[in-house]
Amino acid sequence: MQHRLCAFVLFALGSLVGCGPVATRAPAAAPVREDAAQITARHFDAIRHSPPQLEAFLRAMPKGADLHNHLSGAIYAEDYLEWAARDGDCVERATSTLVAPPCDAALDRPPVADALRDDALYRQLIDAWSMRDFVADSGTSGHDHFFDTFGKFHLVNKAHRGDMLARATHQAALDHAIYLELMDTLADAQIRMLVEHTPWDGDFAHAQAHLHAGMAAVLAQAKTELDTAEQRRRDELRCAGAQPDPGCAVQVRFLYQVLRGFPAPVVFAQMLAGFELAMNDARVVGINLVMPEDGYISMRDYREQMAMLDYLHGKYPRVHISLHAGELAPGLVPPDGLRFHIRAAIERGHAQRIGHGVDVMHEDHPHELLAEMARRHVLVEICPTSNRSILGIGGDDHPLPIYLAAQVPLAIATDDEGVSRSDLSREFAIAATSWNLSYGTLKTLARNSLEYAFVPGASLWQGRDGFEPVRACAAATPGAATPDPDCAAFLAGSEKARLQWQLEAQLHDFEAGIAAGR
Ligand SMILES: [Zn+2]
Repeated sequence: MQHRLCAFVLFALGSLVGCGPVATRAPAAAPVREDAAQITARHFDAIRHSPPQLEAFLRAMPKGADLHNHLSGAIYAEDYLEWAARDGDCVERATSTLVAPPCDAALDRPPVADALRDDALYRQLIDAWSMRDFVADSGTSGHDHFFDTFGKFHLVNKAHRGDMLARATHQAALDHAIYLELMDTLADAQIRMLVEHTPWDGDFAHAQAHLHAGMAAVLAQAKTELDTAEQRRRDELRCAGAQPDPGCAVQVRFLYQVLRGFPAPVVFAQMLAGFELAMNDARVVGINLVMPEDGYISMRDYREQMAMLDYLHGKYPRVHISLHAGELAPGLVPPDGLRFHIRAAIERGHAQRIGHGVDVMHEDHPHELLAEMARRHVLVEICPTSNRSILGIGGDDHPLPIYLAAQVPLAIATDDEGVSRSDLSREFAIAATSWNLSYGTLKTLARNSLEYAFVPGASLWQGRDGFEPVRACAAATPGAATPDPDCAAFLAGSEKARLQWQLEAQLHDFEAGIAAGR
């Protein structure tokens, strides 16, 4: 890093002055970094109206993290198809739904492996398991087609968590992301069994006490599932070999995803399992609530679910919470349903991050809410393709510019890149184009993704309103290969800061490359 920085100093100054100490001292090095950033910003402005050039630029741009990524939605249908064929699964031709053997072609339930030899069936399944070529009609909306995909391939994703992890991290590496926070529901079957034998009277303390005895088995099962998946990921990506897949270098943490469309006893038990797991397994850093926010139980029980979170947050205050909230649009639900979800998620559900937040201007007192989000540093995870295909909201209808103007922190995320047929680079491109974002803003979004990640450790940055290094690293150039001893000690103690340092190094190299015309 140091020698690359030195080479860049020579390039930028156009002279052969010595540059040894310049490379690691912030006061002298900072203007050079600024020059490269400015050159990159000008280059970005020059190519931004060419979609192919924009995509190539943004694919190479370091992006930090993807904070909103459902593991089951991250997989492309082609992968699911291959795995299902290998497993000997069958497919119900009429509904494009995977079912367990025995298969029976006479009953229109052939082996799914037939799709690998039958182009029509292959196309049918990929379209049914994703948003590819989807055109809404009076019978099926984008919202319905999207959410219905998950039930169709559910059989195969239950059995392939490790393969899915390998695919998601491989894709993250291609997108130049270094950290994923993946949503997944662990030990699901054990929790459902536990709930069946647990009385429910609506009192959270009673429920917690009743569930307590079974929680150890749930945690053990979740740990086994994660161990198995991680081993499979390492094998699949050949992480121990001489030529490991770049996905091996991507750091992963999990958010326990609670299925908000289920009855209260299940939702509470899953929340409790998520909080317990986050306290007991460093791989799980928080929880999130998933499934359509407009569904019957999601809408009916919204306030009760926030009350559950309020209760459990009181018991487990260190566990992080991110919540889907405001993934709604006028007409999708009655007007009253648009008025309070985001505020309740923050004030009652203790959400530190909000997923989507699309209907924010329909909330009661929206400007006060925006100011509150800015003041409390509640980040919004923006998922452009998902919002467009599920809610029909994009461009000027989307609140992203309003959030930016209100100084609410934002990050770009994929949501379900496989089902959506997208990836993180494309989401950046859509954001840049839809809302005319500058390179500087995109860089802030990338830095935000690590700043607001739930990965443990102190931040590299002093505060959340800028990107000034903490005192220990004030004398170092962020991203330098050999930070001074104070900074090195600080980085050694913080996984988050190490990721942030790595992003700064990547950004430096990326900008130096653009400035050098590479
Ligand atoms: Zn989501």
